[in-house]
Amino acid sequence: MKWAWRIARIGGVDVFIHFTFLFLLVWIGIAHYSERQELADVAEGIGFMLVIFLIVVLHEFGHSLAARRFGIKTKDITLLPIGGLARLERMPEKPRQELVVAIAGPAVNVVLAVVFGIILTLTGGWSPVEEISVTGGSFMERLFAVNLMLIIFNLLPAFPMDGGRVLRALLAMRKPYAEATRLAATIGQGIALVLGFVGLFVNPMLVFIALFVWVGAAQEAQGVETKSALIGVPIDELMITRFQALRPTDALETVVGYVLEGFQVDFPVIDGQGQVVGILTRNGLLNALARRQPELRVIDAMDTNFCVVDRSETVDRALQRLQTGDCSTLPVVDGGRLVGLLTVENVGEFLLIKQARMRPGSG
Ligand SMILES: [Zn+2]
Repeated sequence: MKWAWRIARIGGVDVFIHFTFLFLLVWIGIAHYSERQELADVAEGIGFMLVIFLIVVLHEFGHSLAARRFGIKTKDITLLPIGGLARLERMPEKPRQELVVAIAGPAVNVVLAVVFGIILTLTGGWSPVEEISVTGGSFMERLFAVNLMLIIFNLLPAFPMDGGRVLRALLAMRKPYAEATRLAATIGQGIALVLGFVGLFVNPMLVFIALFVWVGAAQEAQGVETKSALIGVPIDELMITRFQALRPTDALETVVGYVLEGFQVDFPVIDGQGQVVGILTRNGLLNALARRQPELRVIDAMDTNFCVVDRSETVDRALQRLQTGDCSTLPVVDGGRLVGLLTVENVGEFLLIKQARMRPGSG
């Protein structure tokens, strides 16, 4: 994700923080300062924020562990003001699995809220209800309030909130997946409008969240639309067949020539039998050129850790590999021999052409 910094790696999952989380920090800081104009209050508020961090991370690991049960890995976790985002390698396609993964996050907050509630009850630490808020009450009471807030926000039935996924999963049990997504996205955008409008009068933070929800709904609907347009399309129909392949012994200078002549960015490297043995990416080429050793050949710069796709596969499955793997170009093979290339860009071109053909003619 853009505009995010990595802060930790837990159980093989990278945890990132998005810069917009800083707005939340500022807002909390201002809220604390405005009460008594004491800097100590601000420091305490920020410290409290770090605990919220931890709670959000636990929430995300709830999703992550539930997904792992269905054999789905987590690519990374990003902390956003609205709660955080665990990017899964793929989304569970069975509605029941999506439901479990979506609910597992808020379930962590329910457990935490119950634990804090029990502690407060046992220690007799409850203040009168009207004094409890995210910024008021004892430390433990505020933790309780934070969990309650996270549960409510995340269960809003709107993408990208967990509630949006819960809604889609419930709808998908009765309708086709794409239709369920479209409906869930529309409901989510309706909620975003209401949220944004209320926010104008109540709390600017709500307007910000409404914006997130609006964009999230649009992205989700678009993603599913794209996928359904590609289902069953044979790779033959859109793979790149005019491209330049390299030999391991080619000099890097030759490749530079190809690049400047306008060939593709990533080059497949084949042996004498036409078998793919590596990929020379733009980065690989630039890094090798930076070493300034004129004797370097393709074999010294190519990446031997690459993915391929078989000609008999369909584009929707191949696209999944392009999006989740670290490969930007997929060599297409037939019986092990290189026959074409598939890139995100040419899949995009295919979609544009398909859309243009479906558009009602003008004049
Ligand atoms: Zn969640």
